[in-house]
Amino acid sequence: SAEVIYGKQLAETIRQEMKEEVAQLSEQGIHPKLVVIIVGEDPASQSYVKGKQRASEKIGMNSDLLELSADTSEEKLLEIIKELNEDKSVHGILVQLPLPEQIDDQKVIEAIDPSKDVDGFHPSNVGRLMTGQETFYPCTPYGILVMLQRADISLEGKHVVIVGRSNLVGKPVGQLLLNENATVTHCHSRTKNLREHTKQADILIVAAGKAGLITGEDISDGTVVIDVGVNRVDGKLTGDVDFESASEKASHITPVPKGVGPMTITMLLHNTIKAAKWIHQK
Ligand code: NAD
Repeated sequence: SAEVIYGKQLAETIRQEMKEEVAQLSEQGIHPKLVVIIVGEDPASQSYVKGKQRASEKIGMNSDLLELSADTSEEKLLEIIKELNEDKSVHGILVQLPLPEQIDDQKVIEAIDPSKDVDGFHPSNVGRLMTGQETFYPCTPYGILVMLQRADISLEGKHVVIVGRSNLVGKPVGQLLLNENATVTHCHSRTKNLREHTKQADILIVAAGKAGLITGEDISDGTVVIDVGVNRVDGKLTGDVDFESASEKASHITPVPKGVGPMTITMLLHNTIKAAKWIHQK
């Protein structure tokens, strides 16, 4: 049966490495700082931002959490971002999405200085990823890449099949792995005969948000299965992959929870450190 890749353990190892790096930077007078903005009181978003803040503090990084009321105007939020763009002590700015309906998400993303866009969502950074230039890679896709690399799974020439084509996960993870010389197939909700595609995967990445979408019958022996989905079923967290049946065939598989999730926050911290180093090199 499959080897389980625990993102949680790997994330702890990498965070320990980053803690040492933050301490070294601090000796050079560089203090990486992340500012997280949340608008409104959505419980899932609240828990995500608290997790991000706790993780930053644990590695000794400065972090501020700005909690704005649900009725905050777009103008006010853009004004705050402008101030943070100009504040030299701030290296990373993250606005938790989605925003309340009076605020245009895209406008806010585009207002963030691309050199502080640690989520990697600014169109200029998306374009840099697309053209293979150095940039901030979106955190979940980047976390998946690092997981595969640290598990010694080679990517060159491999057939990677991705279920999902969102701007957050599906599209950027495909682009990242294409840059690593994988052969990439994107599937989505209108794909016909999904199983015919998933069965051809050397590496299958599932980011659809549908519990149990992929089972052992959808994969071939020896497939590496990365489950990005986070679903709540009867109060329990579960991925998009039926872990039990899939792990009978997979060579490697990630669990939910303790799989991809902890890697996402880790790469946010990585991007913030990178932003701080860049600013000081200028
Ligand atoms: P999304 O809803 O924006 O996109 C889902 C994608 O899946 C779409 O492209 C859609 O075409 C495709 N899809 C939906 N149903 C399908 C089906 N039956 N067959 C084939 N394709 C189908 O979601 P997202 O933001 O990309 O997130 C995907 C999942 O990953 C969610 O469960 C989300 O909670 C989770 N997620 C986890 C992390 C993490 O850190 N672990 C981060 C981001 C998202």
